[in-house]
Amino acid sequence: MNENAEIFVEGAPRRYQGLPIKENPVDIVDIPIPTVKRSQVLIEVEACGVCYTDIDIIEGRVKCKLPVIPGHQIVGKVIESDKGIEHIMGKRVGVAWIGQTCGSCEYCKRGLENLCTSFKATGCDFDGGYAEYTTAFIDYVYELPKSVEPEKLAPLLCAGSVGYRAYRLAEIFDGARVGLFGFGSSAHIIIQVIRRLHPSTEIYVFSRGAEHRELAKRLGADWVGQPSENPQKRLHIAIDFTPVGETVTRALELLDRGGRLIINTIRKQTPILLDYAKHLWEEREVKSVANVTREDVKEFIKYYARYGIETHIHIYKLEEVNKALRDLKAARTRGTPVLKIK
Ligand SMILES: [Zn+2]
Ligand SMILES: [Zn+2]
Repeated sequence: MNENAEIFVEGAPRRYQGLPIKENPVDIVDIPIPTVKRSQVLIEVEACGVCYTDIDIIEGRVKCKLPVIPGHQIVGKVIESDKGIEHIMGKRVGVAWIGQTCGSCEYCKRGLENLCTSFKATGCDFDGGYAEYTTAFIDYVYELPKSVEPEKLAPLLCAGSVGYRAYRLAEIFDGARVGLFGFGSSAHIIIQVIRRLHPSTEIYVFSRGAEHRELAKRLGADWVGQPSENPQKRLHIAIDFTPVGETVTRALELLDRGGRLIINTIRKQTPILLDYAKHLWEEREVKSVANVTREDVKEFIKYYARYGIETHIHIYKLEEVNKALRDLKAARTRGTPVLKIK
């Protein structure tokens, strides 16, 4: 689901850039307000983040029910609830990509509900938040602070919480040299988590965008550079936020022996070419991040509130959804694109 990756299009062969996003891929239509089913709440949507996964859905690389209302970084107010869960009425809540899991498969039982064989995704299997109203299951909503503007909270639900899962899987230790590849929505949030939870880490940010490198410096990077640049020391841990395969190869080249690479990307648009001796030998590890668990979302929201993490957003009106998608695809947005709905 990462999505929020900065797009390294200049270097990528054209044929790998995916199908062109149609001029206006999302139709705006009037439909009835959805009705609340068992254990569900009705949410009046205040804001919804636009994620690179939404482009993958629209362009057919991620299979969803059709037609679908996309959007899985939802912030809104509960205005109706099923019987027995009235305590949530009037609260501000968030809804993330994880829309429902079975609770009984092997993965759910092992605490890996993100890998549930019946995983249902918001804005894909269920209608999402590019809308004035949406429904969600009570066990899959998270209470959010009312003191912050809803637009600023939207990136927490995917860029932040999936990035937080990548951070957890990375198992960063104090004093580690950590490389972040790509500096989009997810990375700019996660750098702040790393900075606060592990003050003695050295953070290296690799990005093609001068503005992104500037922002990385301001948010606490110790070193910033182009993806082709070599820092003086090798990295213990790398997190790749980009949608291209070349970054995997590059990050592994820069890893120290025993190092770990976490790939926080749902799709790679270009192949990954690895040489065992050069990239994997000496106990280098590679792991991808798939989806997110409710625990990831809850823990990340807790850190957000505790540390006052900044989110950089680019606000669009709901009617401008197609522009937001085109801008995201062309890497023209400054910060996470967010639809301001109410
Ligand atoms: Zn399951
Ligand atoms: Zn997403």
